[in-house]
Amino acid sequence: MATSKKDIRALTKEQLRNFFVEHGDKAFRGNQVYEWLWQKSAHSFEDMTNISKETREMLENNFVINHIQVDQMQRSSDGTIKNAVRLHDDLIVESVLIPTPTRTTACVSSQVGCSLDCKFCATARLKRMRNLNPDEIYDQVVAIDNESRLYHNRPLSNIVFMGMGEPLMNYNNVIKAIDKITSPEGLGMSPKRIVVSTSGVPKMIKKMADDDVKFKLAVSLHSAIDEVRTSIMPFNATFPLASLREALQYWYAKTKNRITYEYVVWKGINDKRKDADALVEFCKFAPSKVNIIEYNPIDDGEFQQAQSSAIDMYVNVLEKNHITVTVRRSRGKDIDAACGQLANKS
Ligand code: SF4
Repeated sequence: MATSKKDIRALTKEQLRNFFVEHGDKAFRGNQVYEWLWQKSAHSFEDMTNISKETREMLENNFVINHIQVDQMQRSSDGTIKNAVRLHDDLIVESVLIPTPTRTTACVSSQVGCSLDCKFCATARLKRMRNLNPDEIYDQVVAIDNESRLYHNRPLSNIVFMGMGEPLMNYNNVIKAIDKITSPEGLGMSPKRIVVSTSGVPKMIKKMADDDVKFKLAVSLHSAIDEVRTSIMPFNATFPLASLREALQYWYAKTKNRITYEYVVWKGINDKRKDADALVEFCKFAPSKVNIIEYNPIDDGEFQQAQSSAIDMYVNVLEKNHITVTVRRSRGKDIDAACGQLANKS
């Protein structure tokens, strides 16, 4: 049965303090409950052991905690973990823990499905159902932090918004989640350890610059030639490379932060010298780093990983032009947890 009770985590700390004052209690009680909700990530009012039974019952009568449930956890032979996360309305998103010798990274989702329609992406096949709330994003991070401590004996060190969804199409909630993740009243993580990865929504990149955000920006570029990019990322017809570049110039002028480009090289699509030259040209206006990511085929085989000689060609061309480049092996392939594979198949 649908509940009319309000999601308590939609309240600010001040609103929670006011709630207690209005109900004849001390404002301080609001601080205690707020700490349970965020820092201690309580799943129920029952968990709040320093709050009296009467107060917990009063909270129960007025609010719900819409905590996520990890429905299914899959562990890859390389240590990668994929969570199928059930939301309060029974929709499912996925998030991934990616361990390396020096760090543990959470790849989190920001939407159920996606607003965009990249041809190479499994998520694009799920239509966008809704945006995630800040607490649903936060809970994914907490779940992965717990798994990191349990299975890898260390806390989570990094977060990338590279799971399901386009984070800049759910900007306000992503920003609120990051505020909680970085706040001492939440997880207290450094914003420098957070990367928001976008397909490139120019207006929102400018807004991020104006908002003086402290996290890092990555752009899934995949081609610096409009015709090619539009063929694999159709929204590029609406936001062509010139407008993306202009927004990134604005971002760099304001933040002085290096721009990272995520780039997959596909056989027969963007594996020629002219593609690499166009990428160099595109990168020239600001200090840049290119991450070449190994592609994980989704079922239809339309997109195939390029030959290693094409990857080597890209690396040579970029290095000759003094652009930092890394080639990233993909992880978690055996459990469909790699980039572009998240599609609720588990
Ligand atoms: S690659 Fe990202 S932006 Fe593109 S459809 Fe997939 S989830 Fe959406």
